[in-house]
Amino acid sequence: MQVSRRQFLLHAASISATGMLAGCVRHAPQPILHPFINPALPDSACSLPAVHVAAEREIRTVVGLRPYRPSGFVVKPEKFGDTLVVHNYGHGGGGVTLSWGTARLAVDLGAPGYTGPVAVLGSGAVGLATARLVQEAGLAVTIYTKALPPNTTSNIAGAQWFPVTVSDPERRTPEFNRQFLAAAQYAYTRYQIMIGPRYGIRWMRNYYLNNEAWNETGYNGLQSPLRAMMPELRDLTPQEYPFTGYKYVRQYDTMIVEPPVYLPAMLDDVRRAGGVIRVQEIHDISQLQQLPEKLVFNCTGLGARDLFHDEELQPIRGQLTFLLPQPEVQYATIFDGLYMFSRSDGIVLGGTHDLGNWSLDPDATQKANILASHQRFFSSFRSC
Ligand SMILES: Cc1cc2nc3c(=O)[nH]c(=O)nc-3n(C[C@H](O)[C@H](O)[C@H](O)COP(=O)(O)OP(=O)(O)OC[C@H]3O[C@@H](n4cnc5c(N)ncnc54)[C@H](O)[C@@H]3O)c2cc1C
Repeated sequence: MQVSRRQFLLHAASISATGMLAGCVRHAPQPILHPFINPALPDSACSLPAVHVAAEREIRTVVGLRPYRPSGFVVKPEKFGDTLVVHNYGHGGGGVTLSWGTARLAVDLGAPGYTGPVAVLGSGAVGLATARLVQEAGLAVTIYTKALPPNTTSNIAGAQWFPVTVSDPERRTPEFNRQFLAAAQYAYTRYQIMIGPRYGIRWMRNYYLNNEAWNETGYNGLQSPLRAMMPELRDLTPQEYPFTGYKYVRQYDTMIVEPPVYLPAMLDDVRRAGGVIRVQEIHDISQLQQLPEKLVFNCTGLGARDLFHDEELQPIRGQLTFLLPQPEVQYATIFDGLYMFSRSDGIVLGGTHDLGNWSLDPDATQKANILASHQRFFSSFRSC
């Protein structure tokens, strides 16, 4: 395994600290780099190990439906008789990212002055974060959910911490922009205090590649409203990267959340704090009004379309192909709308967005295209 300069320096620092304390170094020091606590973010893109892309390295292909609304997610209260429903759904391709943030907005709308038991509908990333914030407000919570992890859309997510495909830029209102930014800011800091192996969250360096100049007012531009949440943002010169075929390369760091680790840990937290979980579908509003809880958070994702007759809500189908894990790959790439994220359960290759497509069946042609594009890309690294 290659050791980067940063790994070497961290390692050397640990040897000298051990030596100073003990007077000498008698044993080989324990490795100090933990891929979750302090992953070795690449010092230089020139030394990036390539991903080995080959059909025989595939371990699974999965499909999920992003709960998308062109005008953006819904966080608002609505009264049904003596039941107050606070909606928190429709996060598109950014629901893991924004979950803690819209949960904060929703709980602040519903909890002040309320003292009774609370219901949360749904146990994806949004429902679980909402349930935890309800508990942190000192209220008892019951989750009613049609399906538990691992059978939620949140389990399918990539899940890079960055809120993309959340709304249509033409449809955003000033009120939506305010909620979006507040949610992103809260979620960004909340996830940071959860970094580590228990929740499966760590920092990751991303390389964005493009042949057109960046839209600097877009979400990953220099004037992005999210700019303060993009540390280490820098444009690289051709001498600084091994990629070929792209004129513009921009890097910045984001967190990556591993849903197979994160979601069970969140469920566990809800239970440990006294939360009750009932696997039960809520079929209509009259059934909801019969619940003993008079404050209900609606975190049903795409399920809100039928339950609350929201026809604006529609799926954006996404397909991911996983290759065998490569722990030495500690970076992500995004090019031509496709992405590679490196996770402990595999190399994630994705980037399909099919609006209005409800099919959960893997598409063999899409898989072949994703594999071929990534194979071309990773086999064309040059030295720099
Ligand atoms: C391929 C792909 C890649 C993605 N990548 C990313 C990414 O990199 N970063 C990111 O932030 N996001 C990503 N997303 C988006 C993310 O997965 C969603 O935005 C997020 O999962 C939505 O969370 P949720 O809790 O609202 O919905 P869900 O996870 O769908 O949870 C909804 C819950 O409600 C329950 N439910 C539904 N209807 C009812 C009912 N009537 N009664 C009771 N319970 C009900 C369900 O059983 C489930 O438990 C990706 C999605 C896909 C498909």
